[in-house]
Amino acid sequence: MSRFFDPKYDSLEAYTPGEQPKDNVLLKLNTNECPYPASPKVLAAVKKEKAFRLYPDPTSSRAVTAIAAYYGLDEDQVTVGNGSDEILAFAFMAYGRRICFPSISYGFYPVFAQVFGCDAEEIPLTEDLEIALSDYADKDRTVLIANPNAPTGLAHTRAEIEALIARDPDRLVIVDEAYVDFGAQSCVPLIRKYDNLLVIQTMSKSRSLAGMRIGMAMGAAPLIQDLNTIKFSFNPYDLSRDAIAAAAAAMEDKAYFEQTRDKIIATRAWFAEEMRQLGFAVLPSSANFVFAKTGSEYFQAMRQEGIILRHFDKDPIRDWVRITVGTDEQMQRLIGATKKWLAAR
Ligand SMILES: *Cc1c(COP(=O)(O)O)cnc(C)c1O
Repeated sequence: MSRFFDPKYDSLEAYTPGEQPKDNVLLKLNTNECPYPASPKVLAAVKKEKAFRLYPDPTSSRAVTAIAAYYGLDEDQVTVGNGSDEILAFAFMAYGRRICFPSISYGFYPVFAQVFGCDAEEIPLTEDLEIALSDYADKDRTVLIANPNAPTGLAHTRAEIEALIARDPDRLVIVDEAYVDFGAQSCVPLIRKYDNLLVIQTMSKSRSLAGMRIGMAMGAAPLIQDLNTIKFSFNPYDLSRDAIAAAAAAMEDKAYFEQTRDKIIATRAWFAEEMRQLGFAVLPSSANFVFAKTGSEYFQAMRQEGIILRHFDKDPIRDWVRITVGTDEQMQRLIGATKKWLAAR
């Protein structure tokens, strides 16, 4: 820290991203990327984009149009950002003055709360590592939940979340649906019914575009207007020209999206069952990762085998490890390494 750094950041603890190794020898199952490449139509759209001399469209309208069309929303009910991390940052700036979220969830939430000086309440999970929606029912602050939650992969139904939204029309509910495509019910169909619901999604996981940095927010037009006010006060050109082209093409290629998503879901099913057979507790996942109770030595042992997983050294999940669902071959390699480790113990 230099002596010039604003002392208000003295205790700021920045987010620690999962390891992004520079070489390709390690099998990366730690940051929930898609193991399959982006749609060929995305690659073609990016290739066609040539006017890099010019600033991109600050409204990213091609991307917004494609997302609105995909979900049957109006264009003023959608905005995009530089990854959903940026959208979340805008949401904390706009609605985070008094906010609550689960104490075990996306690790960026408390960091945003701190950097933006929010009054944040962290609500523990149940003993079964579930978000107890009843704990949020009467909270007189913005509610932020991830559905499915990370790193557990556990999801609530749309009806359960709708009850929370309907309970207090003067309280905003933000649902982070980073993993919703892998088997949970999206709250997007509720957007026309409730103006106190904001849904945030990303193209990083289910659409193989983590490297492009594209996130989206969907909600009633006044909410989207708020987020755009923040965005235009901060970084109006937040999506590059190639990201806008990629985002539109990714939403339009529904067939490719469904094919890769279905492959992940099928791999997850047998992999989770295989881990259970090996004796580990595995939570039922609605995401592209599996949360398994392996003990923390397992995480170190797999690292020795060249496989990186994600471990959170935090109660009550210290004995659990989050494993991204890769290809069948990758998961076979992990199962092989796991059996070897179990045999050597
Ligand atoms: C990955 C993730 C994000 C961020 O995704 P971006 O790559 O910034 O779009 C947001 N929320 C959750 C719960 C995530 O797991």
